[in-house]
Amino acid sequence: MKKHIDTILVQSGNRTDAGTGAISPAIHLSTAYEHKAIGQSTGFDYSRTGNPTRSIVEDTLAKLEEGHRALAFSSGMAAIQAVLSLFTTGDELIVSQDLYGGSYRLFLQFEKQYGIRFHFVDMHDDSRITEKLNGRTKAIFLETPTNPLMNETSISAVSSIAQGHNLLLIVDNTFYTPILQKPITEGADIVVHSATKYLGGHNDVLAGAAIVNSEELGEKLFIIQNSIGAVLSPFDSWLLLRGMKTLSIRMAQHEKNARVISEYLKNHDCVSDVLYTGRGGMLSFRITREEWVGPFLQKLKVITFAESLGGVESFITYPAAQTHADIPVMERNRLGICNRLLRFSVGIEHVDDIISDLENVFNQLRGEAIIHG
Ligand SMILES: *Cc1c(COP(=O)(O)O)cnc(C)c1O
Repeated sequence: MKKHIDTILVQSGNRTDAGTGAISPAIHLSTAYEHKAIGQSTGFDYSRTGNPTRSIVEDTLAKLEEGHRALAFSSGMAAIQAVLSLFTTGDELIVSQDLYGGSYRLFLQFEKQYGIRFHFVDMHDDSRITEKLNGRTKAIFLETPTNPLMNETSISAVSSIAQGHNLLLIVDNTFYTPILQKPITEGADIVVHSATKYLGGHNDVLAGAAIVNSEELGEKLFIIQNSIGAVLSPFDSWLLLRGMKTLSIRMAQHEKNARVISEYLKNHDCVSDVLYTGRGGMLSFRITREEWVGPFLQKLKVITFAESLGGVESFITYPAAQTHADIPVMERNRLGICNRLLRFSVGIEHVDDIISDLENVFNQLRGEAIIHG
């Protein structure tokens, strides 16, 4: 029976321990596993290679993304680093020009240290992708929607270019999650996640994942995961599993709130523009005056000024000073990540309370502007 994603999420971990019937799976802290005789293994030998609690979360992630196999890492960046380790000196990748600041930083590091070349392009325009193609191109790395500018790219359109040129298509699906988009079903070969964000959902676990569409890629990535060892710990695997159970209802509420808030912001005269795709819980907006950014962030009482996203609590991030500070100012401005841009991870609090918080702060800023001119 092919189950709905909501059911896969809620039931994850259940019926995995026939011996005890535990509904919530055990956290297997043991790093070593007994062998009854030479060549006899339960399938678990040493915890870096495989751990029963991590296996449950990995199996769940593979089902969610409709992939062949999933591997869980100690962070999103560890997952991305493992994927980049598939490439070697002289290889070239075509990547989204507007992407997570940490990925941008890691790409530059790989370029400098290992001589892997990264071409940053606007993924909307097929010709921008094809003009960078050459005999050394090995993969396309796509983030959709992009962070923080919320540009959407058609995965299937990019996938047809990738397939036509024998390239791997890697998609960072952190923002939409498999609830809103399943890149493998649209032709991607590898999906990466910062599971720290929506999948975990509670701002209490740092985790990453890579999900692949074939046995061959699964084996290659497993060798990297096992040799480098940036694996998700048993306790963090359990926390992630626990968090993921409610992913579908959380996403529905994030989206419901984000739709109302984007309308509110669009109609507000303290806001010059709102970037929202109409799906999911992430949006960005530009406040009209740069000098308001600091006081705006300080005066918030419900929303927290913090650097992350995807949790149940509403967060606002200032990309220019936080997530995207590693991107040079000129480049940031060229992309539109200006000093008035704020990124909003809309939480699942009551939407009226979030809007009251914004309204109070905007009123204070406007009042002060009238007094000081
Ligand atoms: C946070 C994030 C990452 C990095 O993940 P960590 O878990 O922080 O290492 C990668 N991609 C996107 C889109 C992110 O938001």
